[in-house]
Amino acid sequence: MRVIDLNTVTDAVRALLLDCAFCAGPDLKTKIKEALQKEESPLGKDVLNQIIENQEIALREQIPLCQDTGQVVVFLEVGGEVAFTGDIEAAINAGVRQAYMEGYLRKSVVNCPLIRNNTGDNTPAIIHTRITTGDKLKITVVPKGGGAENMSAVKMFTPAAGEEGIVSFVIDTVRAAGGKACPPLIIGVGIGGNLEKAPLLAKEALIRDLDDESPLPHVRALEERLLAAVNATGIGPMGYGGTVTALAVKVNTYPCHIASLPVAVNLQCHVARHKSMIL
Ligand code: SF4
Repeated sequence: MRVIDLNTVTDAVRALLLDCAFCAGPDLKTKIKEALQKEESPLGKDVLNQIIENQEIALREQIPLCQDTGQVVVFLEVGGEVAFTGDIEAAINAGVRQAYMEGYLRKSVVNCPLIRNNTGDNTPAIIHTRITTGDKLKITVVPKGGGAENMSAVKMFTPAAGEEGIVSFVIDTVRAAGGKACPPLIIGVGIGGNLEKAPLLAKEALIRDLDDESPLPHVRALEERLLAAVNATGIGPMGYGGTVTALAVKVNTYPCHIASLPVAVNLQCHVARHKSMIL
């Protein structure tokens, strides 16, 4: 059994979150530059150029990519041979607290959805834990802004809806979001599982590398179909009209009940912050 010092976990979460806030991922930077070549609208091109300039300024001056620095989602993959000597969720929240205080990042979490007092340090994070094999701990942080998250959706279809129903739901969700989700988007689609599993699949789809393609041919075909349909909406960068409404659509699937076809659409705006570390 390998014992991981929880101070290491706190330090990792802090470092990942500061990196996320200021530094766009290399795959995102490449996709935005590719989008600039593809975009046909002059206004859309102007927005994409501003996004590139914003990425450069954020990195150079160590200021956030966006004023909404998000609520933190954490995915933990814990090897079965790993042990902790204390409370790992407390260690993660300590890392969140340190990053948001030290980085002067906006604190965006309220204590209760009804009373709505700010917790003051952006805690608690939303933590998803999966037990795997081996003696490693993988930590992925996903600070998620409210704009794109608010425009996301989940629906419990029956199987009769089929692929046509799924495509219509995704397109309706993107159309309803318009510019509010700050496109160009990355769209995570979760299909299958049940009421709680489908949104989790959609969120996990958002942390796939932007060049990653589903290894399942029928799912890959759906990803391509959805991306073409979303870009045909004409919403464009930041909703000003154009040919690039989404940079990528990622579809994750899971077995489900014979009577069900759960579908979740998690919209991710163009800042697309997520970073991982293996301890
Ligand atoms: S949706 Fe994204 S880009 Fe838009 S305000 Fe929120 S975090 Fe910022």
